[in-house]
Amino acid sequence: MQKIAILGAMKEEIEPMLHKAHLIDTHQIAGNSYYEVNYKNTCLIIAYSKIGKVNAALSACVMFLHFKCDMLIFSGVAGAISSDLNIGDIVIADKLCQHDVDITAFSHPYGFIPEGEIFYHTDLELNQIAQKVAEQKGMCYKVGVVATGDQFVASLEKKQWIEQEFQAIALEMEGASVAAVCRAFCKPFCVLRAISDAADMDAGFDFDEFLKQSASKSAELLFLMLDEIIKD
Ligand code: SAH
Repeated sequence: MQKIAILGAMKEEIEPMLHKAHLIDTHQIAGNSYYEVNYKNTCLIIAYSKIGKVNAALSACVMFLHFKCDMLIFSGVAGAISSDLNIGDIVIADKLCQHDVDITAFSHPYGFIPEGEIFYHTDLELNQIAQKVAEQKGMCYKVGVVATGDQFVASLEKKQWIEQEFQAIALEMEGASVAAVCRAFCKPFCVLRAISDAADMDAGFDFDEFLKQSASKSAELLFLMLDEIIKD
């Protein structure tokens, strides 16, 4: 039976999911709780990693090394870069990058780590499922590059730089680190985000106001995806 890892960064991002599934067990590992739940006869391991790249990478490793999950879906909120994206809209990452990686002093491009690549590609099949169900539900969504860094971006200048450098449409603080782990373990994964703020001067204000409703939007899309994945 396949086991699916579901990861968020914050409690608010996974709370709506825990209401939808039947809790089997809670596991405490390396400072985090992992909820083993049953959803339509499929085992899901749901967790929030805590914010940032290190925490998210640690949780993703636990999902594969401890729980032996077969795939991973990340769901959460993000700041918008693209002006087409409004609060509550969905972003499906086709690629992710680390906007805060800078070893340009050695003539490497921004985001590049030797023996790696600038962009991590997500799973095409999972993305197609996400797009299909988003369309069926009439959700506003956009597919594109999501940029990750250990900073809450609340500056027009910074977000414009990230857009120019990486052609990113949204930014957040975990996706690319999860992507790096999934790629290292050769596991299919995708990253869903609902917009919580515009990553500009008002970001902090918008974020607190819209976190819960945007997190629920992303979780809703995730469960629609699960219904498709489990059907097969
Ligand atoms: N309010 C929280 C901090 C939130 S940090 C506290 O006080 O503890 C922002 C979280 O939402 C991260 O997990 C990140 O992935 C995502 N995010 C949403 N908007 C963002 C933005 N503008 N910049 C960076 N991350 C953002």
